[in-house]
Amino acid sequence: MSEVPKAYEPGKIEKRWYDLWLKQGYFTPEINHKKKPFVIIMPPTNVTGELHLGHALTATVEDIMVRWHRMKGEPTLWLPGTDHAGIATQVVVERQLARQGQTKEQIGREKFTSLTWEWANKSREDIRYQHQLLGASCDWTRERFTLDDGPSKAVRTAFVHLYNKGLIYRGERMINWCPRCRTALSDLEVDHKDIVGHLYYIRYPLTGSEGFVTVATTRPETFFGDTAVAVNPEDKRYKKLIGKYVTLPIIDKEIAIITDDAVDTSFGTGALKITPAHDPTDFEVAQRHNLPLVDIMNTDATMNENAGPYQGLERFACRDKVLANLKNKKLLEKIEPYSHSVGHCDRCQTMIEPKVSLQWFVQTQPLAKPAIEAIRDGRVTILPERFAKIYFDWMENIRDWCISRQLWWGHRIPVWYCHDCGELTVSVDEPSTCMHCNSKQIIEDSDVLDTWFSSALWPHSTLGWPDNTDDLRYFYPGSVMETGYDILFFWVARMIMMGLEDTGEIPFRTVYLHGLIRDENGEKMSKLRGNVINPAEAINKYGIDALRFALTTGTTPGNDINLGKSKLESSRNFVNKLWNATRFIIRSLDAEQLEPQATELQPQRIEDQWIDSQLNRLIKNVTGLMEQFQFGEAEQQIYDFVWSKFCDWYIEIGKIRIRSQLTPSPLPFLVNTLEKSMRLLHPSMPFVTEELWQSLKQRLHDKNQMPASIMVAPYPFANDKAFAPEAERVMDSVIEIIRSIRNIRAQYKVKPNKWIEARVYTGTLLSGLITQANIIETLAKVRPLTIVGRQEREPTKDKTLVLVLKEAEVIVPLAGMVDQCAEEQRLVKESEEIKGRIAQLESRLRDNKFLSRAPSHVIDREKQKLATLEDKLKRLHLELSELSSPLADN
Ligand SMILES: [Zn+2]
Ligand SMILES: [Zn+2]
Repeated sequence: MSEVPKAYEPGKIEKRWYDLWLKQGYFTPEINHKKKPFVIIMPPTNVTGELHLGHALTATVEDIMVRWHRMKGEPTLWLPGTDHAGIATQVVVERQLARQGQTKEQIGREKFTSLTWEWANKSREDIRYQHQLLGASCDWTRERFTLDDGPSKAVRTAFVHLYNKGLIYRGERMINWCPRCRTALSDLEVDHKDIVGHLYYIRYPLTGSEGFVTVATTRPETFFGDTAVAVNPEDKRYKKLIGKYVTLPIIDKEIAIITDDAVDTSFGTGALKITPAHDPTDFEVAQRHNLPLVDIMNTDATMNENAGPYQGLERFACRDKVLANLKNKKLLEKIEPYSHSVGHCDRCQTMIEPKVSLQWFVQTQPLAKPAIEAIRDGRVTILPERFAKIYFDWMENIRDWCISRQLWWGHRIPVWYCHDCGELTVSVDEPSTCMHCNSKQIIEDSDVLDTWFSSALWPHSTLGWPDNTDDLRYFYPGSVMETGYDILFFWVARMIMMGLEDTGEIPFRTVYLHGLIRDENGEKMSKLRGNVINPAEAINKYGIDALRFALTTGTTPGNDINLGKSKLESSRNFVNKLWNATRFIIRSLDAEQLEPQATELQPQRIEDQWIDSQLNRLIKNVTGLMEQFQFGEAEQQIYDFVWSKFCDWYIEIGKIRIRSQLTPSPLPFLVNTLEKSMRLLHPSMPFVTEELWQSLKQRLHDKNQMPASIMVAPYPFANDKAFAPEAERVMDSVIEIIRSIRNIRAQYKVKPNKWIEARVYTGTLLSGLITQANIIETLAKVRPLTIVGRQEREPTKDKTLVLVLKEAEVIVPLAGMVDQCAEEQRLVKESEEIKGRIAQLESRLRDNKFLSRAPSHVIDREKQKLATLEDKLKRLHLELSELSSPLADN
């Protein structure tokens, strides 16, 4: 039998196990109509080529859920996939081209698209590799890409359906235009930044008379597109001018002075220039007054023919020229500093140009209604709950969704325009003729769809919709949608809307939103700050299991995660701890030739009852926490148990028993606790648990009845019968006694190999503690050790140290080492401390607010604490009086 290597070396074991799991087909579920499946459709990773800790977090959280449900025996599907990520990927490929001095226009649409496909395919391979590296147990046989035939057909089908229903329309609307990407953007794709700019006061001369109207604007270069000046009807300053005209300088164009209630009299001069084609508010004014729209810019934000002499100039260069010209003409009255919020493209950070443009829109209000209902009536649950309110706010005020993009990378809009009759053919399959006049002269719309359109269909398009497939029938709706809270609107809301519209059913039952990853100090990770942790580097240094554990332990849904070196190190130390514990147990097994054990373990010794009880309590807690999606807390509890109970105490006690060859052997309990801990931990740390579990399994007599891999072994069940409160009480006291003696030894700098004497006085725990005498002796290095009942206590004649514990007093004679006075002071100090805590608790228990709000078990716990402290104080006082008694002074 192979030995467990001395030290854990991350990177040596992972690939072997992943390949085995893959080969065994463990990741591919069987459709079994007698069982309810557990399903997660993985958020499709963008093929933009950046993989960061966020991906590792998503993969880990989902893998924890999936591995757990698989171990519970549910047919479990985790469907992986990738997203073409329209604008984001196009920008990446454009940048690559730019480095070679080329533009996409130079190489043409076809060549550009094929280059982007190359990029995407390479990127998909990387993504697959990264997920496998992380241990993601997803079903690669069902992997999907948003541009695959199936999902593409779903996109066209959904589009045609919404169009026929009248929920998709084409119209001239104000949209966000990125002049660099040269595409429309949805409101969600715009970052708003506060800019310190200027407010320019420009004089528009009155037509046919002296004088002028002064307007204030942040964008003087847009005045070529003005089609009116608007004032508030109540504004007395302008009463006489209403209905008159002004002449725009430079281009000598006449425009009317109109009134509109929307004009804010306190902004600038109270007279507003109306530029309907380049400002959302002005667009609305223009709609009310039937004003013409004058577009003054080309798609790259250079000025067009409507800018007269400035045609061809870039928008900001044009601004400088316009200002100089107006100044010369004495039409620039003044300039004031002005801070305002300006939209920027979230992909390339270019300043957005609001622009009226002919685009495709989804009318979202009718879709939002049932999607709001689905959350309200609890068919879909959002975790954490506070995000439901944000969801409602957004959905109730939802605006139409601009879905056309002037890009080359994505799903083409399935619309063909007819040369002859001018009608539209909207079709799932490519038509050869116009469906209205049969003309062959039809041209496909050159735009593509917003990348989020296909993402919105992801839960059903990946399972075969619009075809009625076995997968769709069995696996839809999914169980959990796990994603970051930052894309609640971009994605989650739209999936619920489109899922309900296309299939009549919700797409998933629970939305689990994870937080964002920040550095140790809670700062956002950014290249600029230099605090970014690269997942590949972290894996190299700490191992995958440690990275997974560090990313998830102690976290709760929806809250941001602080991750730094110390958390990664402590996770790696934990893996090492497990490794060493297993190594010890396996070596002991090999040495002892353990006899086959009955399947039911019957603990006879108190410490065996204790560890078994603690283990079963852990299993019960962990199962409850996992059911409530509290994976971080579940991991924390497993960690605490394995480290502070199993390794620090039970294994140490086991070592003593094995060394002294006492019967019964602790090995059955060592093995049982270790084996179950591995299974509890497997969803979080798949590789190291498999490695160690396999080594252990080889040595067990029932190995042939055990599953071939830990990942298909059942998740542990709690056995309530194992709970042993009395054994726990004894062992708590044993641990407290050992700890306090160790503390005293450290405090008085007693040499580690020196035995010291100790006497323990106790009440009802007496018989229990006596059974642990050998353990206390060895672990606290005390000899002789006397454990007797309090009633047998005799007055001390020596100088002693006194430790008053929860259920016992420990007397350590330290003849000549401690002076009595100092010891008295120490006891006085300790009783003062206890008094303080008692006062705190008492005032808490008098506080009506607390009493009315706290659940009764919390109140009981506080009362219990108070009783324990009062008891301890009483005993401290007793010890003090012992010290000052004439006998002790002797
Ligand atoms: Zn852009
Ligand atoms: Zn036609």
